[in-house]
Amino acid sequence: MKILVVNCGSSSLKYQLFDMEKEEVIAKGIIERIGTPPSYLTYSVNGEKKRKEVSAGNHTEAFKVVIDTLLNGVNPVISSIEEIKAVGHRVVHGGEKFKEPTIIDDEVIAEIEKNNELAPLHNPAGLAGIRASMEVLPNVHQTAVFDTSFHSNMPKYAYLYAIPMRFYRDYRIRRYGFHGTSHYYVANRAAQLVGRPIEELKIVTCHLGNGCSISAVKGGRSIDTSMGFTPLEGLIMGTRSGDLDPAIPLYLMRNLNYTAEEVDDILNKESGLLGISEFSNDMRDIMKAAEEGNQNAKLAMEMFCYRIKKYIGAYTAIMNGLDVLVFTAGIGENEPEIREMVCDDMDYLGIKIDPQKNNFKGQEKEISASDSKVKVWVIPTNEELVIARETARLIS
Ligand code: ADP
Repeated sequence: MKILVVNCGSSSLKYQLFDMEKEEVIAKGIIERIGTPPSYLTYSVNGEKKRKEVSAGNHTEAFKVVIDTLLNGVNPVISSIEEIKAVGHRVVHGGEKFKEPTIIDDEVIAEIEKNNELAPLHNPAGLAGIRASMEVLPNVHQTAVFDTSFHSNMPKYAYLYAIPMRFYRDYRIRRYGFHGTSHYYVANRAAQLVGRPIEELKIVTCHLGNGCSISAVKGGRSIDTSMGFTPLEGLIMGTRSGDLDPAIPLYLMRNLNYTAEEVDDILNKESGLLGISEFSNDMRDIMKAAEEGNQNAKLAMEMFCYRIKKYIGAYTAIMNGLDVLVFTAGIGENEPEIREMVCDDMDYLGIKIDPQKNNFKGQEKEISASDSKVKVWVIPTNEELVIARETARLIS
């Protein structure tokens, strides 16, 4: 059975075609600059990356390019579109309604649409992908897998903010959490790797990419996570501030005359690693500059790791212990020095990594020292595989 997994941004469409017999990715690629020509398709053929200009004025045209590439590309992987049994879509915000992945129908689309105002950058893009897919493959099952679902069973005392209850009652202002598919995947994979049932494990998962979040996973359930009402809360990220005194945006508006829009941009697009370093949101640039003596870059790394440490401590406390600590996503998978800085001086909590074991990029490997009470693992995330699996389960 072949399943297509689609992840749409406002101007991009990423896809992976899975053969579910062996859970193998048989084709993948990304179309970028949708709606602002020239648009490009980057895809791999026999392990080799290819890039070509394509016509993609909107997501439907982009989706047609994907199907055409699968059917008629340099190395066609399907001989007819009937081979695609379902399309699984990543949807960022499922609100309170979607606690599980779901098969898409008109009612589901209307519900996702209701969450647009909670995720104005992400959900409309996801919907554009869904609509494109329904138009191009009208007879194929479509499913939605939500970034928020894995966190949807947090206890109420963890997901509510201490503001007047009417804002939750009337406007659903609460913690939702994001990156759920990634936290779910690495937590379950960690349980497999340490050879224990997830039901008896206390796990902290650190998803450190451009967006960063951390989750406390107890007994297989996310009981708290650092992103909140929006993906702005929590850890320091590429361009997002993460946690800050909520009076700061008010001060910027009242005393420095910034508008709400401007403050939104400052906190989401100009802060984080970029704001501190004053030159880049990319950890690779930051680390290179730090090595060359740039003090701001060094500070950005220190602040980034310090914030993660604080959350690991907090989540160990709320779970009354920790069995496994997991690093994933761009930075978590590829930056040994960051992993080392986070885990440094944590032996009180039972965390001790082995610098030799830690010295690698992009593999699934244990990095804890042999006498570390907590197992520390690097696990490359695989959200697409989760979406493919959930889709296969839903349609069967
Ligand atoms: P996104 O949240 O956009 O999916 P990623 O998970 O790709 O982001 O993470 C991007 C971050 O990972 C950047 O800060 C980048 O510097 C860092 N990184 C470090 N090494 C690598 C690598 N080898 N490949 C990709 N990203 C890397």
